[in-house]
Amino acid sequence: MTCLSTTSYSLLINGSPSDLIQPKRGLRQGDPLSPSSLPFAWRDITSVSLLLEGFNLFSNTTGLQANPCKSSVYCCGISNADKEGISVVSGFSFGELPFRYLGVPISTRKLQAGECDLLVNKMVARIKIWSSRHLSFAGRMQLVNSVLMSVSVYWCQIFILPKSVIRKINSGGFGFRNLAIWNQASVGKLAWSIAQKEDNLWVKWVHAVYVKQKNWLVYMPSIAASGAVKFTIPKHRVILWLALQDRLKTKARLFPYGVTDDDLCALCGLHTENSSHLFFSCHYSTECCRKVLHWLGFNTHRTSLFMILKWAHRHCVGGFRKRVCYAAVAGVVYQIWKARNSAIWDAKVPSLDSSVNCIQSDVRHRIKSILGRKVSTRDKDWLYSL
Ligand SMILES: [Zn+2]
Repeated sequence: MTCLSTTSYSLLINGSPSDLIQPKRGLRQGDPLSPSSLPFAWRDITSVSLLLEGFNLFSNTTGLQANPCKSSVYCCGISNADKEGISVVSGFSFGELPFRYLGVPISTRKLQAGECDLLVNKMVARIKIWSSRHLSFAGRMQLVNSVLMSVSVYWCQIFILPKSVIRKINSGGFGFRNLAIWNQASVGKLAWSIAQKEDNLWVKWVHAVYVKQKNWLVYMPSIAASGAVKFTIPKHRVILWLALQDRLKTKARLFPYGVTDDDLCALCGLHTENSSHLFFSCHYSTECCRKVLHWLGFNTHRTSLFMILKWAHRHCVGGFRKRVCYAAVAGVVYQIWKARNSAIWDAKVPSLDSSVNCIQSDVRHRIKSILGRKVSTRDKDWLYSL
């Protein structure tokens, strides 16, 4: 602050220097000397406390203080209890994702077309301002083209823009350079930096956390490296989706065509075999589901697989265990379909225990193979105890 308040300025007016002007306002928002910072921490209280300690050290050294009214904490994938803890330790309020930082949206997932409205609106606003100026159309086009290109290039260097947004920007007919190729080339520069192991903090972080000692050219990001960790095995997901859409070739659908002798459930032989009976009310499926939920330690009052699925689907976003539950329920649907096929083609209904064992081993292997470092020790212990 001493440097800012003790300096003085002079302006050249009609070629002659003016009297000296003493600055009084000091630092203002947006000044390069007063930057907004975006630090990251793991979700545990210890990491956040260490970060705040660093903050305090910075404040004590430079005299710059964080403004609590303009500071927020953004969290994702953590429990409400952890959130509460972070709120108490930091004293900052919670903000909603996505938010804007340095003019671009920050989100935990891939950039969505809706989030690019900001870019398109920004470009439209500039066009509207220029349209009111007294420029020839040729001059206006040149100005619009060069400045608007720089607006979109800024975004292109950070994100892969959704195709619909590129189409929307190009549809203006301003004769931009091929924005899709420009976007790929700009993001390719980031990949080039990683491949060349450039000496900057971001590249070092990518190498330390993800690439490690592997060769970048053959590096494949693990599923856990993306925000969307899929606990459910793909084949389970497909059968579950088909079952919920009633698109599996159950006897109720085949019987009218004369493909089967009857339309009775292959597992119990008591009811018509349609998706709703086979997966959601047959004794075999409800028992199978009950055993699997008991194995996971979920004591839910819901008895129908459909209700459990709805409940798990609604709650599977945050909690690790609920996501495991959802994966297990999808496994149940898959195994029931497999048992039903075995009953028809091999004339043999697998025992409940063997189906439950298959589900347990599928779920265990899947979750262990994609287990990321973000999973808490408590959840890991729980998984290994299954
Ligand atoms: Zn049945």
